[in-house]
Amino acid sequence: MNICKNCSTQIQAGQKFCYVCGVLLDAGEEKIFEIECETHPDCRAVGLCVICGKPVCSDCEVKSAGKILCSDPEHRILLQEWCVLHQPDSEFEAEALVRNLADAGIKAKTFSLRDYITTRWLDENRVFLFVRKSENEKAKALLKELNLVGKD
Ligand SMILES: [Zn+2]
Ligand SMILES: [Zn+2]
Ligand SMILES: [Zn+2]
Repeated sequence: MNICKNCSTQIQAGQKFCYVCGVLLDAGEEKIFEIECETHPDCRAVGLCVICGKPVCSDCEVKSAGKILCSDPEHRILLQEWCVLHQPDSEFEAEALVRNLADAGIKAKTFSLRDYITTRWLDENRVFLFVRKSENEKAKALLKELNLVGKD
């Protein structure tokens, strides 16, 4: 079993980056896969923003409590005050959930690895739906009520 060198989270076989802290994972000395920084195509990415999945190099990564963020200052706030409500199967489902939550007065944001050129073709597609921590319970109850989220 492997663990992330940065944050000690358990890593599943085939994982390309750490879902908790965002670092790209190594296989020995070699990176499992190489991608470029979204902003600096000449530079190798060191990880993906844990909020939006944007690939960042060592010059543009922002570290917060050991986690990798892009330079968007909003994402630091999202890391502190928002949480992942759900991981929809597709961007389409995510957009539908954002609309449903908005109808109930709950603001939600969605991010997808397909938003970026260098991660668009990754076989691991991860779509995240974020809400404010203070609205998480309310949002969860709403999704259940609307039967939009069947799992667990
Ligand atoms: Zn990690
Ligand atoms: Zn970001
Ligand atoms: Zn960069």
